[in-house]
Amino acid sequence: MTPRRDTNWWGWGDPAVTAALDDEALAVLRERIGDLEPWPLATGIEDFALPPAEPLPAALSEAVGVENVFTAKEHRLRHATGRGYADLARLRDGRLEAAPDAVVAPPDAAALRRAIEVCAAEGIAVVPFGGGTSVVGGVEPLRGAHPRLISLDLGALREVEVDPRSMTARLGAGLRGPEAEAALGEAGFTLGHFPQSFEYATIGGFAATRSAGQASSGYGRFDALVTALRLCAPAGDLETPETPHSAAGPALRELAIGSEGVLGAIPEVTVRVRPAPAVRRYEAWIAESFEAGGEIVRAMAQGAGLPDVVRVSDEEETRGSLALSGPRGLAGRAFAGYLGARRRRDGALIVIGLEGDEESVARRRALAVRALRAGGAAHLGQAAGRSWEHGRFHGPYLRDTLMGMGALVETLETAHTWSRLGELHAAVGAAIRGALDGQGTPGLVFCHLSHAYPDGASLYFTFIARGRRGAELEQWAAVKRAACEAIVAHGGTITHHHAVGRDHAPYMKAEVGETGLELLRAAKERLDPAGIMNPGKLLP
Ligand SMILES: Cc1cc2nc3c(=O)[nH]c(=O)nc-3n(C[C@H](O)[C@H](O)[C@H](O)COP(=O)(O)OP(=O)(O)OC[C@H]3O[C@@H](n4cnc5c(N)ncnc54)[C@H](O)[C@@H]3O)c2cc1C
Repeated sequence: MTPRRDTNWWGWGDPAVTAALDDEALAVLRERIGDLEPWPLATGIEDFALPPAEPLPAALSEAVGVENVFTAKEHRLRHATGRGYADLARLRDGRLEAAPDAVVAPPDAAALRRAIEVCAAEGIAVVPFGGGTSVVGGVEPLRGAHPRLISLDLGALREVEVDPRSMTARLGAGLRGPEAEAALGEAGFTLGHFPQSFEYATIGGFAATRSAGQASSGYGRFDALVTALRLCAPAGDLETPETPHSAAGPALRELAIGSEGVLGAIPEVTVRVRPAPAVRRYEAWIAESFEAGGEIVRAMAQGAGLPDVVRVSDEEETRGSLALSGPRGLAGRAFAGYLGARRRRDGALIVIGLEGDEESVARRRALAVRALRAGGAAHLGQAAGRSWEHGRFHGPYLRDTLMGMGALVETLETAHTWSRLGELHAAVGAAIRGALDGQGTPGLVFCHLSHAYPDGASLYFTFIARGRRGAELEQWAAVKRAACEAIVAHGGTITHHHAVGRDHAPYMKAEVGETGLELLRAAKERLDPAGIMNPGKLLP
């Protein structure tokens, strides 16, 4: 099957979709980050220069079928990067130093096994590729010690087998989020996994990166949904049993989840599913401050229970979201009046979402409303919540627009315990602001709290600044480094859900310690003795 080519090669998603900012938003942006110099694409796909491809052995074509090996420039280019700012900056500038020699798309799990065996025997590096939405350099074609490299596109593995009685489903790695949801929906179920990249990321990618979705506070992170999986490693297949739980030693399933392609490729996973919700209710509230909003979420998580979606924007993100895309004109003035009357003009926006049957949504909402009111939040109604719900997969298109205008736009995330979340929020925010100032490009730094647990929550930062023309990657690297160092210094995790990839690998020692690293290296050496699987990722 030909690898998919339906997405924008230099940006996000559907090439027909664009996002625009109105004059009011542009004025705010100009006031806060200065004048921008437009950053057009340096080249079209036809003129994009890629390094020459190394020839690959005939045994590889024989393993998967010659019709499943793709060496055309467009395929190599589409598999050469993920979708982080640094990836998009290099595509925009028309400069890629590396690309796979070929894209190999096994039509089934047996062909996948044969392909990995040939690559192991021939010393060819293999980068498993799902939707290519990694934002941490996860699909970067790093060769390590190997002169040849393939991108192993798992997009053809799209089988679905639902077990309605057990409420589980076996899902092929190559299914995108909407494809999996559509197939489950036909049987009356949902997976409930909705990361912002939902429309283009795949089931295999979700498992390989320990992804978390926007509704993970209710449905659970992807790792919590997986009951069993198969890992196709060079040394053999690791298959975990389909049982609800097992006490047979440490969970090997957990070794494969989050392994980011460095141990092998995951052809399929079995997941728990839920009845498709009859009711979806999204609404917005506003707390007095980010701290007060966090306390409300903590009370929910440690008490009556969390809504499926819960997120609290800090004051800067609340102000920024309202300025860039809030209500305008008469509606805007009425909204400002409403906030003023409740003394919440500088408050923190809270979005909650509840999904399920009518009775459970009503019951859980009543508990959530009690916590919100007890914490001093004011109701903003369903329209604002619905507008967040409807726009929730649209943000990445706005990033393309902002980059085209000449802005640096990036996101990063972490998590910590409730006791240290405030400290982490202040430290990372200050590090990003300081680094942007240091580059001579002061910017907007937004944060929201999401993915809440009884013991803590994640923090998600977005920053927007004027791009330093010609030095975009250096500017990005300086800010990213400052943020990562602040996270590590304050004991946060280097990633709550974006994974490690290439960008966070240097911080893995701080995360798991020297013994932890040795253990991961030992697993890799056992499963991938030739070191062909995704070199340069996860492990420093
Ligand atoms: C705009 C945007 C928003 C995002 N929002 C979220 C979010 O809300 N939550 C979240 O968790 N993440 C988010 N991400 C990050 C990304 O979408 C996730 O990491 C996602 O799980 C990656 O899936 P993918 O199929 O695109 O994997 P890819 O990007 O193709 O690969 C990611 C990593 O997994 C490996 N891999 C992929 N498939 C397999 C497989 N079958 N077997 C073994 N290894 C494999 C790759 O080698 C690579 O190391 C976002 C990214 C973008 C660009």
